[in-house]
Amino acid sequence: MSSFSEDDAFEAAANIPLSQRAMMAARPTPYLEGLNPAQREAVETLDGPVLMLAGAGTGKTKALTCRIAHLMTTGRARPNEILAVTFTNKAAREMKLRVASLLGEAVEGMPWLGTFHSICVKLLRRHAELVELKTNFTILDTDDQIRLLKQLLSVANIDDKRWPARMLAGIIDQWKNRAWTPAQVPTGDASAFDGKGVDLYYQYQMRLRELNAVDFGDLLLHMVTIFQTHPDVLAQYQRWFRYILVDEYQDTNVAQYLWLRLLAGGHKNICCVGDDDQSIYGWRGAEVGNILRFEKDFPGAKIVRLEQNYRSTPHILAAASGVISGNKGRLGKELWTEVEHGEKVRLIGHWDGEEEARWIGEEIEASQRGTRGQSPKSLEDMAILVRASHQMRAFEDRFLTIGLPYRVIGGPRFYERLEIRDAMAYFRLAVSLDDDLAFERIVNTPKRGLGDKAVQTIQRTARSNGVSLVEGARLVCEAKLLGGKGLKELSYLVDSLLRWNAQVRAEADTHVELAEMILDESGYTGMWQNDITPEAPGRLENLKELVKALENFDNLQGFLEHVALIMDNESEDSEEKVSIMTLHAAKGLEFPVVFLPGWEDGLFPSQRSMDESGLKGLEEERRLAYVGITRAEEICTISFAANRRVYGQWQSQLPSRFIDELPEAHVEVMTPPGLYGGGYGAAGMSASASPSIRTAQDSQIFERASKADVYNSPGWRRMQSRAQGVRGMAQPVEARGIIINATAVSSFTVGDRVFHQKFGYGEVMEIEGDKLDIEFDKAGAKKVVSKFVVSADSANDVPF
Ligand code: ATP
Ligand code: MG
Repeated sequence: MSSFSEDDAFEAAANIPLSQRAMMAARPTPYLEGLNPAQREAVETLDGPVLMLAGAGTGKTKALTCRIAHLMTTGRARPNEILAVTFTNKAAREMKLRVASLLGEAVEGMPWLGTFHSICVKLLRRHAELVELKTNFTILDTDDQIRLLKQLLSVANIDDKRWPARMLAGIIDQWKNRAWTPAQVPTGDASAFDGKGVDLYYQYQMRLRELNAVDFGDLLLHMVTIFQTHPDVLAQYQRWFRYILVDEYQDTNVAQYLWLRLLAGGHKNICCVGDDDQSIYGWRGAEVGNILRFEKDFPGAKIVRLEQNYRSTPHILAAASGVISGNKGRLGKELWTEVEHGEKVRLIGHWDGEEEARWIGEEIEASQRGTRGQSPKSLEDMAILVRASHQMRAFEDRFLTIGLPYRVIGGPRFYERLEIRDAMAYFRLAVSLDDDLAFERIVNTPKRGLGDKAVQTIQRTARSNGVSLVEGARLVCEAKLLGGKGLKELSYLVDSLLRWNAQVRAEADTHVELAEMILDESGYTGMWQNDITPEAPGRLENLKELVKALENFDNLQGFLEHVALIMDNESEDSEEKVSIMTLHAAKGLEFPVVFLPGWEDGLFPSQRSMDESGLKGLEEERRLAYVGITRAEEICTISFAANRRVYGQWQSQLPSRFIDELPEAHVEVMTPPGLYGGGYGAAGMSASASPSIRTAQDSQIFERASKADVYNSPGWRRMQSRAQGVRGMAQPVEARGIIINATAVSSFTVGDRVFHQKFGYGEVMEIEGDKLDIEFDKAGAKKVVSKFVVSADSANDVPF
């Protein structure tokens, strides 16, 4: 137990009689005025179980927030007596702020407003000894977890190649999501991992205890165990947490559900809000059944349904409802809005993914200026929501090139991802054998039996000879300073590096082929192919995407420079930015302008999800589509590409089946930009035409057509036949005028006054190839590619 005084304070607070609490109340409740009757009912029904089950944007989170404020205002509960669970830390922070603004004063504390994990860490620290841990236990990240499991597999003589540790980690995770301790895994599931899963799970838990450590799944599992085995502890928290509130209840897993049910078991003052149509975490063990079972678990529960949507225009709402109606077994909800006007959902097909990214960049800039009768929007008002994180690369590259500030929510930016950094380290070494940092990064990735000791030997040898690590490694091999397997592997690695480096210098293969070869020959691609964890396929997709990005450059060197440059150009945090995130990360959020790119069968709905879970998978994908569309307040643009390049090969794509499910009356089909004025011929083919100029003009003259027309239009058919024609052969990017010529030499000289579309006027301070270091008058020092800058004198003539 952490501290008695803290417990005493809780206890004292919990024992204040209701009459006295009510007297503390009698404060104004202005926030109730803004609620509709159903919301108000949900807010004012403070005692007993309440379920708010309603569609997107109906004000569930708003009502939940008001309920917290109301609990405090009426004196029913103090901040530390309210347990409020949100889905992300960001949501928790926002909720705290919103409560404070409703109350018109800062809320001191609310220690129990957070995610399941953050709340459970606090609880577990108080009761660690009950599960044989010490209060200062450490929380392992996935890498530590895998390392530990690998050790166990090696002791048990299990071949890590056939039975990878990551697979075991995934199985154990699922069991923990279901709140199964090793003893509770049902016999039906015990055959997992060659029948050894349960035994290894026992050993793993034992080892964690010895290390005084837990993994993420343990945070909940241990607390459920403690509550189940120590009724006194449970009773104490049941008293302390007088009121429980849960947002996004449809995405709770079994362990979270049990934890809540135990805590609410006494007073039953639990208010859950959710939407069965937005359950999108089935793949992580979430059970939409939890929300449907609420009435059974809490008999007499008040069920509140909200039907008025306050977020979106009628067209957006109707489009979302049209798509989700394809799912079976829904509770079914009708949504309506008082808003009368608004644009239809916009649908547009593009030639390929790069074009899609380029067009969206243009549209964002057009929205900033406020075109087509819309008021100008801030970048903060706009979001791009993708199905798979690898889709972000095209947008990030495009936005970095044109200087459009963006942030990636809920994950690292593309070039910061682990697998991308690893792959880039190989490329860097192929270009320069002196890159010691890159060598250190990949020497034992994939595993080559070159542990810390081997690396120290290499470092020592390199240092004493005054050479690079690669050369040091070569000397180690020559002198046979390492034993057995390590030596063989190291000498293979050194040979490979020397060979790749020679190939780069000889320019024997195209750099794209070489990059693929490096990833294959190094065993790096294979490492992820053999990995059976859920994130491995995503990493492989990112690697493919990386190779795709290379196609826009002349050589590896140029690409590496580009990446170094863009990573260098991190924009200020206070700056307005467009948000890019996955559909999963967008849950609960809203934006006036939303772009939903990549609606193509296989990408969205995701092939993997359909292969793995059949109809169930497809329905979860459809719910994701519903979540995506309902994030939009005013403008929602869905797009798809006719072609995507995968490993240099054109792949022709079919528009997503969800597009066919959009009700036609609420959709406006836009003519693809390349189909205007001779399509991809004339302007599009010219290498010198600036893409930003061309599409900016096009976007002014978009023709509108009906949805059916798009597939029948000569342009679309031409696009399709082009796709057929070029399938299987990589079309040189130069021909499409989107090359970033990394070796071009700038025509500016130091001291020139220049103008940049985003950063305004500035002075050239330094020139490096086609990159300029510019001190901008307003935006400060930035590196930019010279073709996006014009001489200050001619700035007025440029049709940006
Ligand atoms: P989601 O299912 O996407 O999580 P939600 O049901 O939680 O949506 P909120 O985010 O609470 O919906 O509300 C959506 C928008 O509607 C917010 O901008 C909110 O401020 C506004 N809103 C909610 N209720 C009302 C109301 N009674 N009057 C005016 N605006 C409201
Ligand atoms: Mg919400």
